[in-house]
Amino acid sequence: MKQELLNEGLNIIRKKRTIAENEAYSQKLQAMKDKTFSKLYKKYMEILVENAKKEAFGEKCDPNELKNAKTQYMQRLKELNISSIDPEYTCKKCKDEGIIDGRYCDCLKKEVSKILLKKSNFGKLEDFQKSDFEIFENKQEMKKIYDIMFQWCNKADTTKNLIYLIGQTGTGKTHLMRCMANEFIKQNKLVILTTAFNLSQLFIKYHSSKDNSDALNDILSCEVLFIDDLGTEPFFNNITREYTYLIINERRMKNLKTVITSNLSPMELKERYDERIFSRVMDKSTSIVIELKGSDKRFVNKK
Ligand SMILES: [Zn+2]
Repeated sequence: MKQELLNEGLNIIRKKRTIAENEAYSQKLQAMKDKTFSKLYKKYMEILVENAKKEAFGEKCDPNELKNAKTQYMQRLKELNISSIDPEYTCKKCKDEGIIDGRYCDCLKKEVSKILLKKSNFGKLEDFQKSDFEIFENKQEMKKIYDIMFQWCNKADTTKNLIYLIGQTGTGKTHLMRCMANEFIKQNKLVILTTAFNLSQLFIKYHSSKDNSDALNDILSCEVLFIDDLGTEPFFNNITREYTYLIINERRMKNLKTVITSNLSPMELKERYDERIFSRVMDKSTSIVIELKGSDKRFVNKK
């Protein structure tokens, strides 16, 4: 992963930290204006300091004393209608530092995925829970497919790591893909969404050694990869086929999740690419092939 991208993610996380701390600080200033709270809080701080001194000399301190003092000032806070004077960090693990025990925290992956999403022009993410099946002609079938995909997104221990979603334009495959991507981002996974077209540009750059960045490496190693519209990209001999195979095969070996959408049937896939790609996609022990047949009513009406 490019350092710039990680830094961009860290900056976003640390901004959240600053906001949480500023918010806490202003809440505290507000609370301190109240004499009762101020008195209770000072008492709490005195005990805290006292306990620290005792600990330094190896003396025992009564843990209940501090706890009671906190309960008292918290009670007063409640009466004042102030929720908290402690920062409410978005990530409780790293307290919005992005780094924990010298390692990147999982919340950084979520931020990086969001940045990648923005750069990919995929627009907004969708939510499984808010999906409206009324717009589909075959709503029962669509609901079933959405359920299967929702479960797949939330299943960690599956050997079926490749999803091949077949569907023409207006069958809801991009919507389904956005729901799935959202599900993984919620899980703090490093997700990359790209189109077959963008991938083919990357292959050419990489092949002619004009691009020595980690871009291809990220495609091979991100936790979840979405490739939209396979089959619509320009085809370059010795490049498109080889690199597409490389991605599918490498990710399969590493047990990394890959979702491909396409309007190519498996047979068409075989014709355009080759036997190797076809057999990887069609291997029932490692992949799931789903065909979206119905159409989105809104799309039908537009035609
Ligand atoms: Zn974190």
